[in-house]
Amino acid sequence: MSYLLRTALRSSRAAGSFARPLSHRAFFATEGNVTKPRPWVKQPAPELGPPPELEGPVPRGVKLGTHRMEIDATGDKGRLYTLIRDSCKCSICVNPHSKQRNFRTTDIPDNITPRSIEWVEDKLEIKWSNDIKGYDASHTSTYDPATLRSPWAIARGSDIGRNRHRVDWNNEQMDTIQHWISYNDYINDDAKFATAMRQLALTGLIFVRDIPESREMVEKVATRMGPLRNTFYGSTWDVRTVPEAKNVAYTNAFLGFHMDLMYMNEPPGYQLLHCLQNSCDGGESLFVDGFRVAKEMAKKNPDGYNKLAKVWLNYEYNHKEHTYNNQWPVFEMEHGHLVHVNYSPPFQGPMHQMHLSGHVPRENFAALREFAEALEKEENTFELKLNPGECAIFENRRVLHARRQFNTSSGSRWLAGAYVDEDAVISRFKVCRNSQMHAWRTYPQWMHVEMGRRRSLRESS
Ligand SMILES: [Zn+2]
Repeated sequence: MSYLLRTALRSSRAAGSFARPLSHRAFFATEGNVTKPRPWVKQPAPELGPPPELEGPVPRGVKLGTHRMEIDATGDKGRLYTLIRDSCKCSICVNPHSKQRNFRTTDIPDNITPRSIEWVEDKLEIKWSNDIKGYDASHTSTYDPATLRSPWAIARGSDIGRNRHRVDWNNEQMDTIQHWISYNDYINDDAKFATAMRQLALTGLIFVRDIPESREMVEKVATRMGPLRNTFYGSTWDVRTVPEAKNVAYTNAFLGFHMDLMYMNEPPGYQLLHCLQNSCDGGESLFVDGFRVAKEMAKKNPDGYNKLAKVWLNYEYNHKEHTYNNQWPVFEMEHGHLVHVNYSPPFQGPMHQMHLSGHVPRENFAALREFAEALEKEENTFELKLNPGECAIFENRRVLHARRQFNTSSGSRWLAGAYVDEDAVISRFKVCRNSQMHAWRTYPQWMHVEMGRRRSLRESS
């Protein structure tokens, strides 16, 4: 399979499993690696073969073959001429305004070869023989070796991508590193907003305070990050006690650790909970860093960790008006990195039929139990009672949230919620990084802060 075809077939998540019919998805798989996209199988590079004739000399650091070339500066062997041609971003190939391509990959003749190659300062300039129909001899492709090495608009391992470095936290650490930003700064100060986004990228949990008292505000806070994610709950929604609640979130009982909308094919990446009223007894919010608990497990019990990368759970929302059903591995991996934790017990559905061979190793349950117990350890859970005017923003597929029971006879409780998709927030991270480089790069202040500053962080700017 060609490089490009493989790239196209790798969806952004768990492609291997989605390429197969549902019945073949290996829930509780005992073999195979269903949660990782297909590994990027690198074939040993074939012999370069006789090189094409060039108009000038072959420049330093470049070796030419019949169909491919090696460029030392990219640290990579044998790139096909067709793929190098495909990467051209000159103003003929890519519209400088729309940034849309003016050619198709399939327009590139299979027998395309370089006609001349030269380094111009630190860029490689290539002119082509057998170029795409309609291109004249003046067409020049210019490549920066750094871009050839990493052509992605959002590099996976960068500080914004899904594989980004994260700062794991337990209760004590979140007590120290929690980030509070005033609504005014969040909305009006681009540098402070970028710092908040950087904190969100690192820890998956930040707080906005001093929000004007209005039901409209959660939308304002959310849309600073990206468009609202609409669902059957509405583009924003309320958590209040209602009679005959269909969803356990609308009752006043203890609501255990969960993630929202795991029964959807695209569970929202980020969630906001804006507190409008919380005068009742109880109703504290709890948060736990699923990534930290997962990574602890990877250290203590790698075998159990690997099992949970293959254990799929079934999630459902099954009502008359709306029925949703999707399945996810507990630890979702991409290129060997954890990119999502998927775990939401209140929304699980039956799974006895999911493994068609009928054999589910008991050890998988042991691994799941170990993870679930670690999640709920007091040392791992960060608890606070949101006050009116405060909003928690958290990464829905990393940070699990829970709520203590509350007594509405003693007061009222009202949170307004919203979701923003992961793609949109990652895009916002990138914009913040590019436009507020200093704020983004400045090492978080909490690295130097003493423990136990929660109240003062809330109160000070
Ligand atoms: Zn071009």
